[in-house]
Amino acid sequence: MVIHSREHKRSFAELGDDEVELVAEAWSQRRAAQPEGYLHAIVNEGQDAGASLAHSHSQLVWLPEAPPAVIEETGSLAVSPGTEVGRFRNASAVCSAAGRVPYELLIESASPGDAFGADLPAALNLLRNVIQRLRAVEGPVPWNAWLHVRAGDWHIEVVPRLTVFAGLELGAGLFVNPLPPETAAERLRAAGP
Ligand SMILES: [Zn+2]
Repeated sequence: MVIHSREHKRSFAELGDDEVELVAEAWSQRRAAQPEGYLHAIVNEGQDAGASLAHSHSQLVWLPEAPPAVIEETGSLAVSPGTEVGRFRNASAVCSAAGRVPYELLIESASPGDAFGADLPAALNLLRNVIQRLRAVEGPVPWNAWLHVRAGDWHIEVVPRLTVFAGLELGAGLFVNPLPPETAAERLRAAGP
């Protein structure tokens, strides 16, 4: 468990630049301290997204190997069609072309390498930025984000929880996204500074 701030900040969107840097540093240090296995880094925000604390935090879960969700992702993790929402340094955020839910986002590095290396602070900074935009458009919605890592390739997936998963999603694995990703990206871009 990584607590993101000394102050009682409920959202990742409220973190300062220095706090975002420290989150990246904490993730990197934990990875370096235990290089074996797969480190699944998660941010859950809001009770409906399974957050265990109101205070902004992330969780680092060690798995013996890459989870099925990572293994099943075909092709390069880094190249994904989508509509761009924003950029920060080497990182870019896109609304996924095949997003399962409204505003599903992918944060990627232009030159992926070590997921827990030099580009992680920029990716987390951009995560804060897109959550700020999301909150400006939809209010304080619950969301989940996680890091996917595979052989020098990585991205962060962001899944806002505006829709409820029911029999179709859970039983058939079919996700009905009522908001086209182009529209979602347009709204998020318009909400930006
Ligand atoms: Zn992924």
